[in-house]
Amino acid sequence: MSTAPPKRLTKKQRSLEILAQLKQLYPEAPCSLDYETPVQLMVATILSAQCTDERVNLVTPALFERFPNAQALAAADITELEQLVRSTGFYRNKAKNIQAACHKIVTEYGGEVPRTMAELTGLPGVARKTANVVLAHAFGIHEGVTVDTHVKRLTNRFGLTKHSEPIKIEQDLMKLLPQADWENWSIRLIYHGRAVCSARSPQCDRCTLIPLCAAGPKLLKAAVEKKTTSRKPKSKPSAKAQS
Ligand code: SF4
Repeated sequence: MSTAPPKRLTKKQRSLEILAQLKQLYPEAPCSLDYETPVQLMVATILSAQCTDERVNLVTPALFERFPNAQALAAADITELEQLVRSTGFYRNKAKNIQAACHKIVTEYGGEVPRTMAELTGLPGVARKTANVVLAHAFGIHEGVTVDTHVKRLTNRFGLTKHSEPIKIEQDLMKLLPQADWENWSIRLIYHGRAVCSARSPQCDRCTLIPLCAAGPKLLKAAVEKKTTSRKPKSKPSAKAQS
């Protein structure tokens, strides 16, 4: 493992070293959504907006048993569809988009999910993030880097981007990482975000990536100072104040 401080490495070298270490930390990087077909992956990814993958995986078995493909979803009773996806939040909008996307897949693409970014993002409810997931996991096509909330937070903490807009973060990452690793970077950052580098309390003291992380040393120092301050006994009130 490299112990060079971030400033000794170029941004590209650092991103490659982080990638190598992430591969060691999380050797397997499967998509955490359950699906059997590209349509099901697209639907699950639409449902995962503002919702956990665990929750989506609880909902999709019944959904896909009832409506297993684009044809069935396009012809579904919208109220029934809404109730099946209700617990994922924003269910009316999600059901409407799923049905409209499947209708377009049936009428314009013969029932098969299209394989280009332009065609995918032309489907209702399918933005670039969803398209990246579908292209990478369903077809092995790496068109971009999926940038969700974890990828955004960790890429910023690593100091690999200064941007907050997902599209700009994605462009920065595409310049730094090998194309074949674009998607597994995102999956592994999601794992690392959940395991160690949460939004509110990153565990920098037990993070092996700290020598490569721009924000880690500062966050660690701040956490130590906070702990020290909270342990200091409160000073006794002065005699004058007591009188
Ligand atoms: S060192 Fe801290 S901020 Fe950097 S990746 Fe690890 S937990 Fe996150």
